[in-house]
Amino acid sequence: MSAADTVTTDAGRDFIRDIIQEDIAAGRVAQVVTRFPPEPNGYLHIGHAKSICLNFGAAAEVGGRCNLRFDDTNPAKEEQEYIDAIKQDVHWLGFDWGEHLHHASDYFEQLYEWGEFLVREGKAYVDDTPPDRMRSQRGTLTEPGQNSPDRYRSVEENLDLFRRMRAGEFPNGARVLRAKIDMASPNMNLRDPVLYRILHAEHPRTGNAWCIYPTYDYAHGQSDAIEGVTHSLCTLEFEDHRPLYDWLIENLPVPSRPHQYEFARLNIGYTVLSKRVLTRLVSEHRVAGWDDPRMPTLAGMRRRGVPAAALRDFVKRSGITKANSVVEFSAFEYAVRELLNRVAVRRMAVLRPLKLVIENWPEGKTETLEAINNPEDPSAGTRPITFGRELYIEREDFLEDPPKKFFRLAPGREVRLRYGYFVTCREVVKDAAGEVVALRCTYDPATRGGNAPPDGRKVQATLHWVAAADAVTAEMRLYNHLFARPAPGADGDIMADINPDSLEVLNGCLLEPALATAPVGEAVQFERLGYFCVDLDSAPGRLVFNRTVGLRDTWAKVQAGGSPLPRRGGG
Ligand code: ATP
Ligand code: MG
Repeated sequence: MSAADTVTTDAGRDFIRDIIQEDIAAGRVAQVVTRFPPEPNGYLHIGHAKSICLNFGAAAEVGGRCNLRFDDTNPAKEEQEYIDAIKQDVHWLGFDWGEHLHHASDYFEQLYEWGEFLVREGKAYVDDTPPDRMRSQRGTLTEPGQNSPDRYRSVEENLDLFRRMRAGEFPNGARVLRAKIDMASPNMNLRDPVLYRILHAEHPRTGNAWCIYPTYDYAHGQSDAIEGVTHSLCTLEFEDHRPLYDWLIENLPVPSRPHQYEFARLNIGYTVLSKRVLTRLVSEHRVAGWDDPRMPTLAGMRRRGVPAAALRDFVKRSGITKANSVVEFSAFEYAVRELLNRVAVRRMAVLRPLKLVIENWPEGKTETLEAINNPEDPSAGTRPITFGRELYIEREDFLEDPPKKFFRLAPGREVRLRYGYFVTCREVVKDAAGEVVALRCTYDPATRGGNAPPDGRKVQATLHWVAAADAVTAEMRLYNHLFARPAPGADGDIMADINPDSLEVLNGCLLEPALATAPVGEAVQFERLGYFCVDLDSAPGRLVFNRTVGLRDTWAKVQAGGSPLPRRGGG
């Protein structure tokens, strides 16, 4: 792990951490135990990162532990691929569950026995009511529900039917096991909730051992109790489920008494954090896969070049509260830039090359100049770069007929080539179609290293460049928001809000030769362009880079019809 990857335990305070402190102070808990309980039906996303940082962070800060528990109670949607990806992503984010890797499916036998326990206590019954009727019998928020006729079955009959459900005698959906609580409760979750459903499906871990599966509500709290979880942290939509969570804990002979606390989920502008939608994006091939760098998944972000430490930092800054809100996407980009600014080496790359020939530079001669690797980190040192007669600059850095505030290169104008020399544009070369294909310039030998000449002459712009003599080519993938609107799907089909310009691929980009051997994942700042990283698709001789994030708020500029380079006149 590099310095940037070290997990800090200074996570500030929030109401959850306050509760934990009070419980410790009052002697209510000896060791704090939390859990992160993903359902393995998709890859983890940045919203999960918030839950991971909270669960693992808050426990570690007080010498407690956090379990990783797969909530694998629905074999219809769950896959081993997701289990493996989730483990990898939690580790990547910087957390470790040690010995405490668990699965709700580890408890299937115990959960079943407790189901029988509830039946024997007269607190659960088998219901044969067809699903639509059961729905209408549930009532509404303003009307109480109606008791099912099966609610009056004897304990013996219920026990017999529940056992036969387990034995596989009935088809999917034929019967369910329900808790017998209160069909008139103002809390819908207490209106005899379903505890078990019949599902003849192979489970990734238990195979065909079971054909009845516990519901989330039934499995979750009991799994917490089995694992000795003290603080079961979940998102606000489960607040109304807490009375059921507590009812089950109170009515079962569980080995410990966990408590559930709810916090607001993370929402980010322009970003979708619904596994259902993310799954659709992948299955409908609207992105290249779960790790497409435009995806808000941890796998996608890692591939895009977002450091784990930046994610942790962002999540920390966004805070733990009880009120739902939407965090600006720019707050995320800020955290990424801030971290990369400290750790990424600087290099020069030209995305859309325009040839520049220095007429008063001898043919065949090259010179080695020195460039700083990271101005934020003197220990990163310097590197040699080649200067020569033929160079490439960014096409956007030249305008034949510059508007008033454009200070970069134009006919007759002098600019600085970073770490190089001052050059003046003498002649514009065009092809038959009238397109600019090269610039003929002269340089001033008194400006070596890009320093001002003895006469104190100043220039208004410094441009990045690469030398034709040793530049290497690369493909650059520039990303924009996957969705074009701040609240995707707010008025209708979410897929209609997909940004058609979320990916721009540039070929024939030119880079300093130092980048030819950069390993996959390496983060670099291309001067004046942004932070990039070497993509997985990169191979020797076929370099591919992802733009992780622009230097400033690129998106605002693109929307305003601007360019991804610094504002005209700004550079
Ligand atoms: P689904 O979209 O299928 O409901 P989910 O996003 O809730 O799934 P889980 O696998 O059940 O996914 O989530 C694991 C944990 O992560 C849960 O405790 C959940 O509350 C938490 N979590 C999920 N999304 C967010 C989010 N956006 N912000 C904070 N926590 C989240
Ligand atoms: Mg969930």
